[in-house]
Amino acid sequence: MIVLGIESSCDETGVGIVDLADDGTVTMLADEVASSVNEHARFGGVVPEVASRAHLEAIVPTMRRARETAGIDRPDAVCVTIGPGLAGALLVGVSAAKAYAAAWDVPLYALNHLGGHVAVDTLEHGPMPPCVALLVSGGHTHLLRVDDLGSPIGELGTTVDDAAGEAFDKVARLLDLGYPGGPALDAAARDGDPTAIAFPRGMTGPRDARYDFSFSGVKTAVARFVEKCVRAGDPVPVADVAASFQESVADVLTLKAMRACEDLDVDTLVLGGGATANSRIRSMAEERCAAAGVTLRIPRPRLCTDNGVMIATLGAHVIAGGTPPSTLSVATDPGMSVQISAYG
Ligand code: ATP
Ligand code: MG
Ligand code: FE
Repeated sequence: MIVLGIESSCDETGVGIVDLADDGTVTMLADEVASSVNEHARFGGVVPEVASRAHLEAIVPTMRRARETAGIDRPDAVCVTIGPGLAGALLVGVSAAKAYAAAWDVPLYALNHLGGHVAVDTLEHGPMPPCVALLVSGGHTHLLRVDDLGSPIGELGTTVDDAAGEAFDKVARLLDLGYPGGPALDAAARDGDPTAIAFPRGMTGPRDARYDFSFSGVKTAVARFVEKCVRAGDPVPVADVAASFQESVADVLTLKAMRACEDLDVDTLVLGGGATANSRIRSMAEERCAAAGVTLRIPRPRLCTDNGVMIATLGAHVIAGGTPPSTLSVATDPGMSVQISAYG
């Protein structure tokens, strides 16, 4: 069965196509992405109206390229992200998905973007056992419990303020490293000392929620540190600040993920979302998983950032799990809860 997925929740227009075999195996046939990231750079963050317009321009050509790459005329099902995400951006993908599903006379599946970030790992590492998943991107930070990709996902915790990737972007801006700041900050940190400055570890006290995150405190601490340097007329030690900040974020993320694995007696941790490209988050997760005897699964970076094939892959698991299709009147759900995988 050929399953097509459309993604337009943020600044990437993605169309992916997978083949769902009778035994449940999912294979990638196409993964086409058009990004408007450069159009947002001068604003220092994603501008919703700019993103919506870019989706409108990109959706049909991206769809054409994906079908050409996969060598298919029409799929057997169309899947689309209906949330969470930017309302206007989601509308473009959902409207297109409805039009294609109606024109091709195939079922439509309305899916959760966050579930896609977890499901995409099966393309790379095969069937997924019950696991803990840590999603870190520009818009999201979630610690999840996944029993079965065809069923609703359980949320253990999330951020109470900034997303981890958002914190990377904001701190990179404080350090004049450009946008998106995550990759630049990662590179700057390579020459720094991660123990140079003791930045706070948000929400790791004994009375804090076990699985929730907070990154606004460390961001403010960086801002204060930079201000102090400027006021004193000292140069800002950019590499040391970047490395120490990155160490704090990686420490908290992996500490809570390992805690969840231990509490739930789960021996697999899956990482997803664009910020898992971060070298220190990866290496610390590797070190801590190895020490705890937990198998770590991280899809290649291309699959960690937003794309359409993650939606096609989640769709394949949802279809295999027997969820009925959505109706053509299904709405977008910008604040969609991760506990809902699909609207049947
Ligand atoms: P969503 O939140 O909906 O998934 P997004 O576009 O914000 O969408 P992604 O495209 O998955 O998220 O990832 C982009 C984010 O990842 C940005 O915040 C970026 O700074 C961050 N990022 C990318 N590479 C790195 C890196 N090496 N280190 C730290 N952060 C990174
Ligand atoms: Mg993005
Ligand atoms: Fe995403």
